[in-house]
Amino acid sequence: MSAVLKLQNQMDEIISYNPATGEEVGRVGCASAEDVKAAVAKSRDGFLKWKETSFPQRAALVMRAREIILDELDEIARLISDESGKPVAESLSMEIAPVLDLMQYFARHAAKILKSEKINIGLYATLGRTSKIIYKPLGTVGIIPAWNYPFSIPLGEVVMALMAGNAVIVKPSELTPFVGLKIGEIFEKAGLPEDVLQILTGDGRTGAALVDAGIEKIMFTGSVATGRKIAESAAKHLTSVVLELGGKDPMVVFADANLELAAQGAIWGAFCNSGQSCSSVERLYVEESVERKFTDLIVEKTKRLRQDSGDKETTDVAAMSSERQIKIVEDHVESFRREGAKILTGGKRNANFKGAFYEPTVISNATNQMRGMREETFGPTLPIATFKTEREAIDLANDSDFGLTASVWTRDLAKGKRVAEKILAGTVCVNEVLYTHGIGQTPWGGFKQSGYGRTHGKYGLLELVATQHIHVNRVLLTSNAWWLPYSPLAVETFRGFARYFASGSLRQTMKLAPRLLKRIKELRGK
Ligand code: NAD
Repeated sequence: MSAVLKLQNQMDEIISYNPATGEEVGRVGCASAEDVKAAVAKSRDGFLKWKETSFPQRAALVMRAREIILDELDEIARLISDESGKPVAESLSMEIAPVLDLMQYFARHAAKILKSEKINIGLYATLGRTSKIIYKPLGTVGIIPAWNYPFSIPLGEVVMALMAGNAVIVKPSELTPFVGLKIGEIFEKAGLPEDVLQILTGDGRTGAALVDAGIEKIMFTGSVATGRKIAESAAKHLTSVVLELGGKDPMVVFADANLELAAQGAIWGAFCNSGQSCSSVERLYVEESVERKFTDLIVEKTKRLRQDSGDKETTDVAAMSSERQIKIVEDHVESFRREGAKILTGGKRNANFKGAFYEPTVISNATNQMRGMREETFGPTLPIATFKTEREAIDLANDSDFGLTASVWTRDLAKGKRVAEKILAGTVCVNEVLYTHGIGQTPWGGFKQSGYGRTHGKYGLLELVATQHIHVNRVLLTSNAWWLPYSPLAVETFRGFARYFASGSLRQTMKLAPRLLKRIKELRGK
């Protein structure tokens, strides 16, 4: 679906580069505000068609798209690696496999999650009333993703929005437009009716125009600074927004943890995708008594990582996604040095490559006062600090503006769960790290500056529907006691409502019966 070819008023051209080689991947147009308006108008037609489809029809379409991905598995993995720089192993394990799982899950379960539901309305039921909830599609959902998981994040949201009956417009990151266009192409091949899903390539200006277009929902993934702008702009139209923003995720390692496993988890959590995951381990707190042993394990494992271009199957850590990103990492590592932390390994660009390669970097003697422990780095760095007590570990983990994910490592599961529940983050794992975005059944989203709203799971799907309440009165004999006109008897009855009916107890409410009957008689006489 080359929605990009249909751009009428495109602004500049966007050039996509492979960050490992600096070679051009290709060029696309940058959609203007007029292009966005035209896409939104088409999306309105797309929505009218799509909202009438049944869940089995939507599921069949999603499952067909899933088959197309499987048919083109290696080609898609390669495209993701070329545009984002990540190892092909991670394109498969961290993007394609999890989103295929999400697709089958929502294709099979969206109907059940969005089934209408009867509500228990307590004593109102004794008055012959019923209430139920139905879920309706919203209209047009705009998806504005980041570049770090350019396939799985927008595609997962597209699937959920479509299963809920919405039309969708995706504005991919300007760093990964071809992966975005691939998502459109997959659905076009699967037979999705025209205008139900449109991919509008562009940069921040295109994203801003989409937010300003008065559509029904924006699903945004990106930085806190952009998230704030989007929330402000969306507020003008009262457009509802889900914000999936940055993280500074802590990993807490107690002395009784399986240190070998925790070290392995730490290096994957910090260095996969070159540390460019919103849920990367960006602060590691280890119990002081095992700090030496644990840090040695981490350094030894880090030194064994193979850094090379993403297209090689033996690459562990590949290029970062852009020059802009590598500069932030250099700046943070430099500030760690200046502020007295020790760089144990890495700490520089990898001179063997031309592209944006930064060596996996382990840093000890970090403290929460250091800049690199407060701002999101989004690169292959693992700063380590220590704690003495459980209370101190919790306080250090919570001493952050962010709250996306966290992990706690211990063999004592009761302690693990106790600490997990005290950490302020949207997801906290015990003896696991980073990967739950890959479990489509579980909610994903942050506390504090990490954003609001949820993607994935039941709560993510509910973000993409309007909840409608249908209330029915089956008893048509008389006016309600609380209707007009009022009188001293009415006021006395309302005192009874407050005292007895509002207690929720049927027995208490029976005390109200004589007054209520008189009041009804009074209303009938009017
Ligand atoms: P970014 O905020 O620079 O850009 C994100 C998207 O917003 C891009 O598509 C961009 O074109 C668009 N955009 C830019 N300005 C805009 C505007 N004014 N209005 C509308 N759209 C605009 O972020 P990035 O550098 O692409 O991504 C990195 C950030 O994303 C990190 O902070 C990371 O933690 C976060 N992230 C969060 C999650 C999560 O689930 N919480 C997942 C992945 C990435």
